[in-house]
Amino acid sequence: MARRVALSLVLASGLVPSPDPVPSYGARARSDRPAPPLYHPGEVNHCPTCGQTGWLVGRVTAECNGCGMPLAVAPRASPRPTP
Ligand SMILES: [Zn+2]
Repeated sequence: MARRVALSLVLASGLVPSPDPVPSYGARARSDRPAPPLYHPGEVNHCPTCGQTGWLVGRVTAECNGCGMPLAVAPRASPRPTP
């Protein structure tokens, strides 16, 4: 009995780290990363890798003509007509 009490005291004191239910590579690690660059239609977009400005633009991605780096196309800010 004395051992069980001692163990609970050690755990309560915080000396032994309790297992984290959320993996460290979850949302916390994702939020530490900077936001990925986006391709902005209608603007001059420099490739973050090679600096070129030529792009093969698709519906959701744009691919650099120089190095093939894909970027997500930024969503258009056109307001939708409200009913
Ligand atoms: Zn490039």
